[in-house]
Parts: sequence; structure tokens; C-alpha cells
Amino acid sequence: MHLRKRILVTGGAGFVGSHLCRRLLAEGNEVICVDNFYTGTKDNILDLLANPYFELLRHDVTFPLYIEVDEIYNLACPASPVHYQYDPVQTTKTSVHGAINMLGLAKRNNAKILQASTSEVYGDPQVHPQAEGYWGHVNPIGIRSCYDEGKRCAETLFFDYHRQHKLQIKVARIFNTYGPNMHPNDGRVVSNFIMQSLRSDPITIFGDGTQTRSFCYVDDLVGGLIALMSTGEDITGPINLGNPNEFTMLALAEKIVTLTGSKSELVFKPLPQDDPVQRQPDISVARRDLNWEPLVQLEEGLSKAIPYFKSLAG
Ligand code: NAD
Ligand code: UDP
Ligand code: UDP
Repeated sequence: MHLRKRILVTGGAGFVGSHLCRRLLAEGNEVICVDNFYTGTKDNILDLLANPYFELLRHDVTFPLYIEVDEIYNLACPASPVHYQYDPVQTTKTSVHGAINMLGLAKRNNAKILQASTSEVYGDPQVHPQAEGYWGHVNPIGIRSCYDEGKRCAETLFFDYHRQHKLQIKVARIFNTYGPNMHPNDGRVVSNFIMQSLRSDPITIFGDGTQTRSFCYVDDLVGGLIALMSTGEDITGPINLGNPNEFTMLALAEKIVTLTGSKSELVFKPLPQDDPVQRQPDISVARRDLNWEPLVQLEEGLSKAIPYFKSLAG
């Protein structure tokens, strides 16, 4: 008999979480989705609500949660600068108190727990590309710090629970990811450029557009998260998950304009404070330990994401 694992996904109504819940259910698991709908929506998981193996709990992870689970994916946290800077104190609380509560829950259940960490732990990196051994270049008191330092502290807590309480932990450092179910007003570059292109609005390039990012399609990322969770006790991470193909924001804008057939013009706006100049994951550890690498390249991924944004643009 196949025993269904009972898996908790915090932030399960968000962009990445909704794809993860769907995949875990498809693989024959029972999924409990916890979300306070801060940036996530029921729309992202509407198709799952009728599934008897899917349970939705409206709950804020900064408060304790007592349930019985086998595995925990801790994704709860606003991810786009616009949203995480709206209430920075809550952002830090979500990362830090949220991690403590979920680690406490994992400890009581003897459950495996995975943390959705971020490339932002590297800050504005002085090493390129970024490998897991790099300690980062992070401003502790800037406008991005609530997110960066909150995620760094969560990593610390994960490793201390591992050392002190022998918890089975997995830490994924996620690099820029995009796809359907991203919040259209998310403020992140891919959603902004696609929505602007579809509405024939000017495309807002921050700075001169020569800064770079590496974009991973969400299906690839979800595969990486599940592969990391299924590793044995010796593998804790941190492990970079992302697509190493690097693009400037100007090149990204050009691709999106072409793929949408848009008439939008480019406009240049001031570069936000502490905006990293370059970002590209070194994924050798993921290749070695997870036998994982992204399969969907930027044009293909954008072509899969654009219809979703079109359905929202009306
Ligand atoms: P998202 O904003 O779409 O999802 C986050 C989810 O967490 C939302 O559904 C939100 O309502 C929920 N949430 C926020 N605070 C909460 C709280 N206190 N209690 C319960 N739920 C709460 O963002 P996403 O892009 O899906 O990101 C998911 C995770 O992956 C985040 O932890 C993020 O830091 C991490 N990550 C994402 C990316 C990316 O490019 N998308 C990159 C690096 C890291
Ligand atoms: N916690 C939770 N669910 C549980 C167990 C613990 O939410 O099933 C929370 C609780 O708020 C606790 C925190 O996790 O304070 C940390 O738990 P831990 O057992 O590490 O510490 P303690 O209970 O001693 O504070
Ligand atoms: N960016 C931009 N125009 C926008 C939104 C973002 O040029 O409308 C830039 C932003 O300054 C940054 C890059 O795109 O250099 C990626 O920004 P995003 O907020 O998506 O993610 P992060 O900075 O967290 O990697």
C-alpha cells in the first residue's frame, strides 16, 4: 500500500508555493497549505480546493502551529522588494519567528524541514558567480535588509536546530524565479516588463539596464526543491537553485517586447538603493548532489508565462 506523506507547505498560496503544492499532490502526497494571504491568493490554488488530499489553513507563521506532518517546506515570506518593504518589521518577523515556529514544529514531529532561502543572502556580491561558500556582501541597515538579514538569520536557526537538536534540514538558496501565478503587481522585473508590454505602457528600466540577473522557470525550481527534500541526512545545503544563464535588464526587456509583439518604449528610472549589480548562481553543488539543472531556457519560459499574464491583462 502506498502511504501518503503528509506535507506542510507554508506560503503555499503564493507563486512558488502554489506550483509546489500542485506537484506534491500529483506525486501522491497529502498537502497542507498554510498561508495568511499577504501576497498569495486563493486564485493560485483554486483548482486544488476540491481535492480531498489538499487542506488550506489561513494562518500566520509568526504564531505557533500545532499539527502532525512528515515534511515541511517553509516558503512563507513576501519575496518581491515592493511587498517585503511595505511592512519591513513584519518581513523580519515572518522570516525569523516563522523559522522558529516551523523548526519547533519539525522538532516535535521529527519531520524533515526545507527552508526557501534566497540569493539575497549574498547581497550585492563581490564574487561572481556566487557559490555557496561565499559569505555575502549585505548591508545590515538598508531598505533590503529586512529580507536579506531575515533570511540569513533563518539559515542560522536552521543550522543551529540541526547541530543542537539533530533536525534534518535542507536549505535552498533560490535565485530569481518567474512563471505563471506571479502576482501581476509584484513589482519584480519579469512581471513588470510583461504587464507593461501587454498594456503598451512604457517599460521601466531601473538604472541604465546593464545590471544582470539569471532567471529560472518555476517548474525547474520546484523540481530542485523536491529533489533537495528527498536527499539523505548527509545533505543539508545550503544549495543554490537557479538558472545560470545571465541577462542584462535591457536584454530581458528586448526579449519580452519581441515575444509579446509590443509597441512599448523603454524609459529609464533611478536605480533603487542597494540594487545588486550582478547575480548568477554557481550550481555545481546542485548538479553534483541533486543531479539537477534547469531545463527551461528564458525564451521558452517567457512564452509559457506570457499567456498567464495575458489572461490577467484582459
Ligand atoms: P510570494 O509572495 O508569491 O509567496 C509568499 C507566500 O507567503 C504568499 O502566499 C504569502 O501570502 C505568504 N506569506 C507571507 N507572509 C506570511 C506569514 N507571515 N504567514 C503565512 N504566510 C505568509 O513569493 P514567492 O516568489 O512564491 O516566494 C516563495 C518563497 O521563495 C519565499 O520565501 C521567497 O523568499 C523565496 N524566494 C523566491 C524567489 C523568487 O524569485 N520567486 C527568489 C528567492 C527566494
Ligand atoms: N512550535 C510550534 N509547533 C509545534 C512546536 C513548537 O509552533 O508543534 C513553536 C513554539 O512557538 C515554540 C517554537 O516553535 O516556541 C520553538 O519550539 P522549540 O521546541 O524549539 O522551543 P521551545 O518550545 O522550548 O520554545
Ligand atoms: N527592475 C527594472 N525595472 C522594473 C523592476 C525591476 O529595471 O520595473 C530591475 C531591478 O532594479 C533589478 C532587476 O530588475 O536590478 C531585478 O529586480 P527584481 O525586483 O525582479 O528582483 P531582485 O532585485 O530581487 O533580484
